[in-house]
Amino acid sequence: MADVISSISKHSISAPKKHFLSDKVEHFTESVIREMTRQAAQHGAVNLAQGFPDFAAPAEVKQAARAAIESDVNQYAITWGAKSLRNAIARQMGAWQGIAVDPEKEITVCCGSTEAMISTLLAVCNAGDEVVIFEPFYENYGPDSVLSGARPRFVKLRPPTTHDGEWTFDEKELRAAFHKHTKAVILNTPNNPTGKVFTRPELELIRDLCVEFDVLAITDEIYEHILYDGTEHISMASLDGMRERTVTINGMSKAYSVTGWRVGWAVGPEKITNAIRKVHDFLTVGAPAPLQEAGVAALNLPAEYYARLAEGYRVRRDHLIPALEAAGFRCYRPQGAYYVMTDISGFGFDDDVSFVKYLVKDVGVAAVPGSSFYRDARDGARQVRFAFCKKLETLDAAAEKLGKLRK
Ligand code: GLN
Repeated sequence: MADVISSISKHSISAPKKHFLSDKVEHFTESVIREMTRQAAQHGAVNLAQGFPDFAAPAEVKQAARAAIESDVNQYAITWGAKSLRNAIARQMGAWQGIAVDPEKEITVCCGSTEAMISTLLAVCNAGDEVVIFEPFYENYGPDSVLSGARPRFVKLRPPTTHDGEWTFDEKELRAAFHKHTKAVILNTPNNPTGKVFTRPELELIRDLCVEFDVLAITDEIYEHILYDGTEHISMASLDGMRERTVTINGMSKAYSVTGWRVGWAVGPEKITNAIRKVHDFLTVGAPAPLQEAGVAALNLPAEYYARLAEGYRVRRDHLIPALEAAGFRCYRPQGAYYVMTDISGFGFDDDVSFVKYLVKDVGVAAVPGSSFYRDARDGARQVRFAFCKKLETLDAAAEKLGKLRK
């Protein structure tokens, strides 16, 4: 008996010989943005790292969520999204961008635009396919490409050289990224982290390459309504020749300040939508049913709501930037979205990661190191991103702490 017990315990404590892990997960790390939120909590720092608002969602939207739960909308919605929400999405895309969408065949509601993006890539990519990504890029696109078996191919966005300048890309470099293995281009406009809003001529250039090389555009338009200084958001799908080769991704998170609700969507041609729906079905079955009902109330908010939203963010942008400049940052003024990329050369640190560590621990402000938006860490070593989707008092608290940098 004693022998049996000792042989069992020997088995149970012997370490596994296989490492059990997929090769894929070796190719990326956990999100740095979300890690910075954990560090902010650990050090009691003001969190200007992860892009989520610290203020309330619209009362009508919260009320609609309560009403949906009260009336027992508690079970699975239709896998590709509640009909009422799909109708509202189609209506809004028609009204804002003039894009006619069939809500029965062309929309998949997902758990956030994050799931919409990876479901789309999983639905369209094969091993050996390449995906063109503008860099710096929102960090999810890297792992999304790896998980879907595609190889990312980066095209540089170059920072402005003047105070009010724009991030630009080189036409030749973009053209060189397209070839016969290119399956898709990911376009995020308004852009995270740069705040760039792609112009019509830029979109037309990308459109012409998509048509020439028979490439799909996957557009992340989550910051669609957050625009400054009279800039205009143009959906790629609204351009001639792009309706049949674009998947448009959007969601509730940023426009209605509900990043934790996890309701987003992918809109594309029927054949591609069918493939996205299959992936989405087996990944998550569906997005939260009562919150989809609240999405209908959100999408029905009047046009003034969006004007107020954008103006509120403009005020926050113009509140934070002078504070950053006074503290010694060089700021790249965003035209859209709610982030400001900064240049930290003036501080004399070795790199962005050591600077951000010092910032969160000793200064009391959390930000995102620039390197997490680049494939090669060296390219982001002089940059740090701040999110300004925060109450003015939060920005003031950050500004006060940043004052320490001057000393
Ligand atoms: N988009 C936000 C950011 O870049 C947060 C995204 C996320 O953590 N899911 O900070």
